[in-house]
Amino acid sequence: MFSCIFCRVVSGELPSYKLYEDDRVIAFLDIFPAVKGHILVVPKTHAENMFASDPEDIKATMKVVLDLAPKLEKALGADGINITINKGEAAGQSVFHTHVHILPRFKDDGKSLWGPMDSKPDLAELYEELKQNL
Ligand code: AMP
Ligand code: ZN
Repeated sequence: MFSCIFCRVVSGELPSYKLYEDDRVIAFLDIFPAVKGHILVVPKTHAENMFASDPEDIKATMKVVLDLAPKLEKALGADGINITINKGEAAGQSVFHTHVHILPRFKDDGKSLWGPMDSKPDLAELYEELKQNL
C-alpha cells in the first residue's frame, strides 16, 4: 500500500497538478494524458479497485466527477466527455488504487472507442446465461 503511486500523490510525497481536494477525494491531471484535459478523480483511501472501495468513497468520488466533468468540458471548449473506470489488468488498469478517468473529447482528437466484435456471440444464448447468473 505504501508504494502505491496514488497513495503517494494523496500524501503529497509525489507532486501532482491538483485541481480539486476534499476530505475524501482528490483530482489531478493524468501525467500521461490520452487527450488534452485528461484528469483522474481518486478516493484518498487506498483500495485496489472500485469494488474494494468503501461505497461512501465511491459516492464522494462520483459526486466530484459529476461536478468537475461539465466544468472541464466547458473550460476546454470540448465537444464531449468520456468517463471511464478500468477494473483489472485485462481492462487496462495499471494503477491498483481506485480512480475514475475524465476525458474531454474533441471532434478531431483522432481517438476511437471500441467497435463491434469481429464475431458476434449468440445474443439469445448469452441472454439466457446471464439471466441465470446475474
Ligand atoms: P489505469 O490504466 O486506468 O490504471 O490508469 C492509471 C492512470 O494513471 C494512467 O492514465 C497513467 O497515465 C496515470 N498515472 C500514473 N502515474 C501517475 C502520476 N504520478 N500522476 C498522474 N497520473 C499518473
Ligand atoms: Zn493507494
